[in-house]
Amino acid sequence: MILFADQIAELTSYRDREQLDVALASALKDLLQPSSVTIQRCVGEGDDRHWLTRARLSPDSSVATSDGPWSDLHTLPRLVADDPRCVAFTEQRMVLVPGTPHRTYFPLHGGDAVVGVIEIETPSALQEGAQRTVQGVLRIYRNFERLLHYSERDSLTGLLNRKTFDENFMKATAAMESTSKDPGDGRRVDSSTCGYWIGVIDIDHFKSVNDRYGHLIGDEVLLLLSRLMGRSFRIHDRLYRFGGEEFLVLMRCHSEDDAAQVFQRFRSNTELFQFPQVGTVTVSVGFTAVRAGDTPSSAFERADKAVYHAKANGRNQVCSHSDLLASGVLVDDSAKIGDVELF
Ligand code: GH3
Ligand code: MG
Ligand code: MG
Repeated sequence: MILFADQIAELTSYRDREQLDVALASALKDLLQPSSVTIQRCVGEGDDRHWLTRARLSPDSSVATSDGPWSDLHTLPRLVADDPRCVAFTEQRMVLVPGTPHRTYFPLHGGDAVVGVIEIETPSALQEGAQRTVQGVLRIYRNFERLLHYSERDSLTGLLNRKTFDENFMKATAAMESTSKDPGDGRRVDSSTCGYWIGVIDIDHFKSVNDRYGHLIGDEVLLLLSRLMGRSFRIHDRLYRFGGEEFLVLMRCHSEDDAAQVFQRFRSNTELFQFPQVGTVTVSVGFTAVRAGDTPSSAFERADKAVYHAKANGRNQVCSHSDLLASGVLVDDSAKIGDVELF
């Protein structure tokens, strides 16, 4: 009982989703002493869904292993219909698979939906008492996850909020810094192959939408625009509402051209979309590569300058901060000697 209480206290002490999943695996490992515990989340859509390992603990590993949150989808195993973990996931029920080892799969709820599975490997079949323990821990996890979900998101659109951006940004840049460091054996680590980019999106003349159609219709435009973002950006791109009619995207791209293309696609999708009652709405976008040493606000400031330029030059366009620097429209007062725009 004390062990159970300790595990629950530990589990509910995290505000970080990755740490929370590791704490869940660790709680189940300590409570059941299984051969291994693996937490996998389903990522992707439709026929293109894959398993992302969030935490795996086995007796010979004191530290959990996992796939990175920005893993390339196509390197991850696909969902296969008759795979028992897929059955546990789609039918939302526990699945027992006898063998060496025995495997038990539990559906993992995040918020109001099933988001993945937990696989527990044991030398003999998982007893009923142990199954109930897992289900109890998962109920607590689900309730806690719901609270976390609300604290991370904007209540109108359901997009991530600014506080979450700051946390995600710091984590992303820390991960890039650690992978771009010289490993000390003469090899050069190429951090230029895939960098982080942020884009600030601001609705054009939104005040006039409110003035002409009222605040409620204005809110509906914000909601529909956030859904359009969900359809226009890619599965790993993180979407935020910064308040008002301002949105932000954090993404990984191979080049400036890739990033520009993604933002142009969204701008054009918005221009073509018919908003009920309002008709068409346009957006201005400014984007920048994330640099070594950036803070969330220094990167935001550059993207914001690019939006400002888009606004001042006709709106309904995408502006790149580095293009504006190269053409002499902007001067980079934040660049320090030795800064590299590689991330
Ligand atoms: P610009 O093209 O220069 O961006 O012009 P704008 O009218 O979009 O920008 P401005 O900053 O002048 O006005 C933003 C408006 O957004 C003012 C405010 O009434 C409205 N707004 C901010 N938050 C919300 C919200 O949550 N719901 C609604 N409906 N309107 C909001
Ligand atoms: Mg604005
Ligand atoms: Mg605006």
